[in-house]
Amino acid sequence: MMVIDITDILMEVGLAKDFEGYLSLEDFVYQGDNIHFEKPFYVEGTVVNGGEFVMLSAHVQGHAALQCGICTEPYDYTADNEIQINLKPIPDEDDPDIYVYSNNLIHLDDIIIREFILKLPVQRRCSVGCKGLCPYCGVNLNNEECQCTDEDRQPIDNRLRILKDFYANRDREV
Ligand SMILES: [Zn+2]
Ligand SMILES: [Zn+2]
Repeated sequence: MMVIDITDILMEVGLAKDFEGYLSLEDFVYQGDNIHFEKPFYVEGTVVNGGEFVMLSAHVQGHAALQCGICTEPYDYTADNEIQINLKPIPDEDDPDIYVYSNNLIHLDDIIIREFILKLPVQRRCSVGCKGLCPYCGVNLNNEECQCTDEDRQPIDNRLRILKDFYANRDREV
């Protein structure tokens, strides 16, 4: 957990304070995908008393294992994010992008996770050419070729053929 005490910079507009450190993030599930953090993120930044707001800028670097949306395997993702946010001691109903600090403390964890999620790729893929899973036997086609025959791969066609035979026979009976 990374918490910045801003009591000292709140004394006077224009005062600033640097911070840096390593932040361990908890694994979580996002849109049904597992997000796993192997190592802590490195964070460095500055907070400034901007009068109306406290302004925080930070550079966040780290790696996460995301889940491929096609083959479901984890793959390495590099987060290298610039964060620029404003904070107030009470929520701003007109501006939901304003973060809140309380008791002169900024909890960086929540901010960094939210910004990390905002910057995640919408389509998460282990590679541009991910072949995905065989829809019939479930084998990961990036690693091996499955043993499905053309017959296995056409269950819908087979079903249609049966249906066609059925109608053909029925017509004959009529
Ligand atoms: Zn994949
Ligand atoms: Zn298969």
